[in-house]
Amino acid sequence: LTSKLPDIGTTIFTVMSKMALDHNAINLGQGFPDFNADPRLLELVNEAMLAGHNQYPYMPGVDSLREVIRDKVSSLYKRNYNKDTEITVTSGATEAIMASVLSIVNTGDEVIVIEPNYDSYVPAIRLAGGVPVRVSMDPPSNLDDTFHVNWDRVSAAVTKKTKLIMVNFPHNPTGAVLTDSDLNELEKIIAGTDILLLSDEVYEHIIFTAQGHLSLASRPKLAERSFVISSFGKTTHTTGWKIGYCCAPEALTKELRKIHQFLVFTVPSPLQHALANYTSDSSTYLNLPEFYKTKRDRLATGLSRTRFKPYACPGTFFMLADYSAISDMPEAEFAMWLTKEHGVTVIPVSAFYASPDAIEANHGLVRFCFAKTDDTLDRAIERLMQI
Ligand code: PMP
Ligand code: GLN
Repeated sequence: LTSKLPDIGTTIFTVMSKMALDHNAINLGQGFPDFNADPRLLELVNEAMLAGHNQYPYMPGVDSLREVIRDKVSSLYKRNYNKDTEITVTSGATEAIMASVLSIVNTGDEVIVIEPNYDSYVPAIRLAGGVPVRVSMDPPSNLDDTFHVNWDRVSAAVTKKTKLIMVNFPHNPTGAVLTDSDLNELEKIIAGTDILLLSDEVYEHIIFTAQGHLSLASRPKLAERSFVISSFGKTTHTTGWKIGYCCAPEALTKELRKIHQFLVFTVPSPLQHALANYTSDSSTYLNLPEFYKTKRDRLATGLSRTRFKPYACPGTFFMLADYSAISDMPEAEFAMWLTKEHGVTVIPVSAFYASPDAIEANHGLVRFCFAKTDDTLDRAIERLMQI
């Protein structure tokens, strides 16, 4: 058997969650809430099932859900996507990413990925026959800072073969968010080229800056060539439902749907109906920054009482922390040691790098997820204070 992805093992999130279970550790690793979704949303699923929404829904997604997505994007980002030809409901953001990449990347096409990056991007590019071109972000200059995209390096990585640039903001794992100047730089880089963009915005509603999220959908010059992808998993505390979506101009959506229909065809009907009903009330997502800010601050204050040094977190439910005062172990080894010896599970940031140089550099950083109850966060801090 010739493996298509010989060097790829099981994802770090699965490995660390299994390890947390095996060692009875507090799991601040994989990004999922340890509290339940709003009971009203759960009732809406039941209502949808009782109303008979139990057969294949329309391939691109239930009408009412695409309407809600259209209205939300239009009100927040001022772009009016056509729900019939430009919005597709997918099996989580993961499927949207895979379907987008498979639909437009051909053998030998180069795809720029900004490192550290989410783990599904590079396998998607490789399965499409593309060549990942990795560009490292600049590390934070101090603890009040986050990672930054170095747009000069992105620009220098562009060649005639560049088909796609993939971006992800708010950024997993660093928590970095976009500024207007980032979007200006991106506009300059693609001007006069045919480069397409994929923007993974699954944390769009978990952002703590006064300006809020800057979607690529909000810039006509970017939106006209972008797959803009999001996920209800993060927004409605339902990561296990795997409902995401992709907004993209008609020509891109047409290609995306050709792949979507043969990857999964469609995604669960009652969940789509329930999310449409629930998300039509904008407070369900507009209140998220306030909800998560309390948790972020609880974790940051807690970590500042340990020997970990937390970095600023302007977005996502992840916080990076430096552990160099505790150990000089490589990140993966440190994360395993922390689980086994101290009962707290985190994710090594090296898992988000693929270039050997970047992994070697070992920034001494791990990622904490704060989508957890106050009690979980407090118990974890108590354990970390013993180190
Ligand atoms: N992109 C990023 C940056 C993520 O962190 C995740 C996972 N939470 C996904 C995509 C996948 O989202 P989903 O669970 O909706 O497939
Ligand atoms: N996105 C989640 C994280 O970064 C994990 C999703 C997964 O396990 N595939 O933790």
